[in-house]
Amino acid sequence: MSDFFNQISRRKFIITAGASAGAVFLKGCLGNPPEANTGGNSQSAPTAQPAANISPEQAPETNAVKLGYIPIVEAAPLIIAKEKGFFAKYGMTNVELSKQASWGAARDNVEIGSAGGGIDGGQWQMPMPHLITEGLITKGNQKIPMYVLCQLITHGNGIAIANKHQGSGIGLKLAGAKSVFSKLKSSPTPFTAAQTFPAVNQDFWIRYWLAAGGIDPDADVKLLTVPSAQTVANMKTGTMDAFSTGDPWPFRIVKDKVGYMAALTAEIWKNHPEEYLAMRADWVDQNPKATKALLKGIMEAQQWCDNFDNRQEMANILAQRAYFNVPVDVLIEPFMGKYDMGEGRKIDDRSMAALYWKDEKGSVSYPYKSHDLWFITESVRWGFLPKDYIANNAAKAKQLIDKVNREDIWKEAAKEAGIAAADIPTSTSRGVEEFFDGAKFDPENPEAYLKSLQIKKVSV
Ligand code: CA
Repeated sequence: MSDFFNQISRRKFIITAGASAGAVFLKGCLGNPPEANTGGNSQSAPTAQPAANISPEQAPETNAVKLGYIPIVEAAPLIIAKEKGFFAKYGMTNVELSKQASWGAARDNVEIGSAGGGIDGGQWQMPMPHLITEGLITKGNQKIPMYVLCQLITHGNGIAIANKHQGSGIGLKLAGAKSVFSKLKSSPTPFTAAQTFPAVNQDFWIRYWLAAGGIDPDADVKLLTVPSAQTVANMKTGTMDAFSTGDPWPFRIVKDKVGYMAALTAEIWKNHPEEYLAMRADWVDQNPKATKALLKGIMEAQQWCDNFDNRQEMANILAQRAYFNVPVDVLIEPFMGKYDMGEGRKIDDRSMAALYWKDEKGSVSYPYKSHDLWFITESVRWGFLPKDYIANNAAKAKQLIDKVNREDIWKEAAKEAGIAAADIPTSTSRGVEEFFDGAKFDPENPEAYLKSLQIKKVSV
């Protein structure tokens, strides 16, 4: 096990993760907290009708499943598949969507499974499914095998900065702002930034952005796991300088004059991997046809979501009390690729909006193994996982990824759903990835990527 996960006690993990509850929705000025375990009702009419004649070979073993989600735009394909009848179309007539109070709660609920009152799977930051499979973030380090089945979304996240730093040069690039960080570093309160769960996406995005700007996230700033509600309150009172967050927060932060946006993740790494559908491996192994039925419903929902003509309706559905419980108007502009970043900066570019089915690089839905490898490599970079995961051309990482990533099931489902061959990737690697600072990740050589990075915790 890694030093990181040894050092961070289980108890501390529960507190920090548990505290990040409702992370994305706040009391008071920014909206109300989510209610747990609501299934959601919509006035919108389902688009798809349940198929009366699903072939016997494709008929699901069960029509019931319980999926967890966090009320952020990443969850849209799950909610749309339920509300527009895409799950039912493939025979999954009893999908329960269970709103999770936090990422820690989702982890706890998948540990016990639906039989124990928890969930069978759902929406995850990466590499949570791999960490749960390895028993690194579970109770008593119990290994609970999970399968990654599809990516839910790209983009839709960003880095927010407190208003007091406006004009200080803290933007996408940090070259002009180094003195701000060094001045704060030698003061009693260093630059303080937050994410919602350690060692996963939001933590990686803020670390990548800081390090690319020459700021060491472990030495030059204080990086915390904090509930968003507290974070924004802290940002207002001046004790929190930055946080890593997803839509609809970038919009609300600027509109509520709490802060401004230094960067969208779409600017840091365009068409980047974001959150995924993953399920307990035992559920998938017992219900292979139901798994594919779920995937077919999600794929159809992802295509529906990517039609910009549907985005107003999508915002209407997600905004409902049972789901996000926010005003529709905080969702619609980011969904159309219109971001008011603050400091007079505006983005109006649909290729930078949350995308669910396709982006400029090809498939969003297909879970590339090369992206899992980036998340594992980045975990090694910051000392969250030991170096041996990427030794010998990442043999250990690849072994774990081969166990967890079931792109083979995605492909089977896509073929059964009649997805065009051109939309089904033929390689498990998307190839070389390039970041905004010019760094390149070649999945054929993750060690070279680590070597090329100036700021890192691992020595390679
Ligand atoms: Ca996210």
